[in-house]
Amino acid sequence: MSSAFAGFPIEISPAFEGQRIRRDDMYLEFGGPKVEHKFELVRVRSMDEVEDEKVQIIGPDLKDLKEGGSYPLGILIEIAGPKLETDLEGVVERRIHMYTNYIEGIMHLNQRYDIWIRIAKKSVKKGLDSLKWWGMALIKLFKAEMPYIEKMQVTFITDPDEVAKKFEEAMQVYEARDARVRGLKDEEVDMFYGCVLCQSFAPTHVCVITPERISLCGSLTWLDARASANIDPKGPNFPIPKGECLDPVKGEWSGINEVVAQRSLGSVKRVYLYSMFEYPHTSCGCFECIAFYIPEVDGIGIVHRGFRGEAVNGLPFSSMAAQTGGGIQTEGFLGIGIEYMRSRKFFYADGGWNRVVWMPEELKMRVKDAIPEELVDKIATEKDATNIEELKKFLLEKNHPVAEKIREMEAAAAEEAAAEEAAAVPEQPTTIGIPQVSLPTALPVAGQAVPAGGIKIILKGAKIHINKVIIKKTEGK
Ligand code: SF4
Ligand code: ZN
Repeated sequence: MSSAFAGFPIEISPAFEGQRIRRDDMYLEFGGPKVEHKFELVRVRSMDEVEDEKVQIIGPDLKDLKEGGSYPLGILIEIAGPKLETDLEGVVERRIHMYTNYIEGIMHLNQRYDIWIRIAKKSVKKGLDSLKWWGMALIKLFKAEMPYIEKMQVTFITDPDEVAKKFEEAMQVYEARDARVRGLKDEEVDMFYGCVLCQSFAPTHVCVITPERISLCGSLTWLDARASANIDPKGPNFPIPKGECLDPVKGEWSGINEVVAQRSLGSVKRVYLYSMFEYPHTSCGCFECIAFYIPEVDGIGIVHRGFRGEAVNGLPFSSMAAQTGGGIQTEGFLGIGIEYMRSRKFFYADGGWNRVVWMPEELKMRVKDAIPEELVDKIATEKDATNIEELKKFLLEKNHPVAEKIREMEAAAAEEAAAEEAAAVPEQPTTIGIPQVSLPTALPVAGQAVPAGGIKIILKGAKIHINKVIIKKTEGK
C-alpha cells in the first residue's frame, strides 16, 4: 500500500484503524458535538461531470484554522463510472469512515450529518497541513478497493455559511435515500443482507439489514446493502437467506441465526430483530440512537447521539454507549438507526411506540411523523421529566399506555411494604418441628441397592423466615 502513497507526509494503512486522538493530542477537530453543521455525502454523477482526482477546498484549509478549535465541515464526494447506480451512494459514503481511519493522525467517527473528525498534532508536524492529503488518500483508497469507481473528486467545505447551506441539501438526500425503501415489507423479500464493516472495532458484531430495519448506523438501507453485495460479493455486505421464520413477532429466522453464528465466530447464536429483550441484535458503536429499558416504568427510553445532557435514567449518551456497544448482546440496551423508528416493525415484539416513554425533544420532533397521533403528547422529553420520579408522574398524568402497569407495580410494591412492616412486628417465633434425620451419605456400592433415605417435606401455604441454615456432617458417619 505504501508505494501508492509515495510523497505523502504521513502513512496510510489499515493498521491505523481504531486510532484514538485525545483532546490534548489533537490539532483541531471538525464536527462533533460542539458543531451544529457537519456532513459527508456521496453523489453519483455522469462521467463528464466529475474531474478525476480533483480535491477542492471551499473555505479555510487546515493551516489557516486556529489550533485547538472545533469547526464545521462538509465532505462532498462525487463519483462516476458506467456500473455505478444511485443505490451505491450510501455504501460508498459509509466507507469514508473506514478509509479516513487508515490515515495516520486522522480519526473519523460516525456518519452522514453526525461526523466527528480529529486531526492529530503529530501528523500536522509531519506535514499534514492541508485537507488535500486527506482527499487524495481517499481517492486512491476508494479507486483501489472499488474498481467500479472510475472517476472521483472530493470537495471539502469549511466555510461555515456554505456548510450550513449544503447541510440542508445533504439532509434532503439522506431523506430521499431512506424513503425509497419505505413501503417494502420484510415478509415480501426472500433475502436479507448483512454487514460486517464494523468488525474492525467490534469483532463479533454483525448487522442484519432488512427492508423494515435499517442498519443501526442509519447509513445502510436494505437497497443499499443489496446493491453493495451484488457489485462487490467479497466485500463487507452479503446476502442472508431468510430460512424458516421461527417467530414472526420477535423477528427470528433460522437463516439469520445461522449466518450470524458463523460471522460472529459462534459468539452470537440467536437474534430477535424486533425486540430489545432476550436475544437483541448486537450493537457495535456507531448507532444513531440508544434504546434503553426503564424497569421502574416498564418502558423504553431512546436517546440520540447529539443529545448532550443526561437521559431520564441519569446517564449521558456516552456512558450508555459504553454499555451498549462492543458487539455483544445486551438485554435492555440496543443501538438503533433513526429510520427504524419509522418502521412497522419498530420494537414490534415489545409494544412498539406504546412502550416508548421518553426521548429528547430534538429527536421527538425529528420523528414526530412516525409517532401515532394519540401518543405524541404522552411521550415525555427532557422538558417534562429529568428523572424517573418525574417521568412516572408524567406518564400517570397523561395516561400513557404503560400507566396501568405502573399502577400495578406501585400497588404490588405497597403490598410488599405492608407485608414487610407486618413481618417486622415482634411476634412469637413459630418453630416448625423438623425431625432429626440422617441424610444418606454412603455412596452406592456396585451390586447393592442404593440405600434408601432422604425426606420429603411439603409445606402448604406456609411462610418461612430463616436467618441461617447450617448443614454439618456428623463425625463418624
Ligand atoms: Fe455496517 Fe452495521 Fe457498521 Fe453500519 S453499523 S457500517 S451497517 S456493520
Ligand atoms: Zn459500527
